[in-house]
Amino acid sequence: MNIFKPIKINHHVYQIRVIGCRITLIINDNCICLVDIGYPGSYRFIKNGIKALGLSISDINSIVLTHYHPDHIGDIKSVLEDVTPQIFAHKDEIPFIAGLVPAVKASNNQAIQLLYKKTKSYLTMPDLMNRISPVTEGDVIPFPYRINTVHLPGHTKGSIGLFLPDNRTVIVGDSLTHKFGRQLGFASSLYSDDMKLVKQSALKLSDLDIDKIVFSHYPPITKNAKAKIKTLVTNDKERT
Ligand SMILES: [Zn+2]
Ligand SMILES: [Zn+2]
Repeated sequence: MNIFKPIKINHHVYQIRVIGCRITLIINDNCICLVDIGYPGSYRFIKNGIKALGLSISDINSIVLTHYHPDHIGDIKSVLEDVTPQIFAHKDEIPFIAGLVPAVKASNNQAIQLLYKKTKSYLTMPDLMNRISPVTEGDVIPFPYRINTVHLPGHTKGSIGLFLPDNRTVIVGDSLTHKFGRQLGFASSLYSDDMKLVKQSALKLSDLDIDKIVFSHYPPITKNAKAKIKTLVTNDKERT
């Protein structure tokens, strides 16, 4: 088995296993939009994965960061040493991604604070403040394939997902879980800031016309996604 071999979701969407998460590639016309980066050391896996697809690093023309957690942004420095893509994130996440506000203060959540005490040293890149373009609900990422931003507050304040309407796919970052590849669930309560918002964001996702969901830490859902989210949200309402 080739560990660098990307996981194909469909013709336009692939994932690569990197350190600490799965990053997602949206591909069209030899252009790559990279969704998240992984912990430091992940760039090597990204490079090999892109090569395995017959593409080149210079084909990366956009990067979207779903939120500021280090397993999603940790190796951005290495990527930016090689390429100069446009970078997008929600405005609430940018100061934490750049390390201007100590990320340990980003959340009252103790699990996140502990994570940051261990990792804050590599997260200071003030230049990113000016390099990242802020996006919010409904914004379109400039790319030769339709990508719409969905604001999904809850896991973090500025968590975003990406909706590909022509692909009936949504990329949700950490805003939903899919344990063992069969159990769709809300974002982890251990690592999320506000579970009430997490559930509201899931409700918002249940309104999208989707067939597939792509996660940062779990295998994708490749069919009937809309019905599955609706069931999750409805069952939760009945319990509470
Ligand atoms: Zn996260
Ligand atoms: Zn994560």
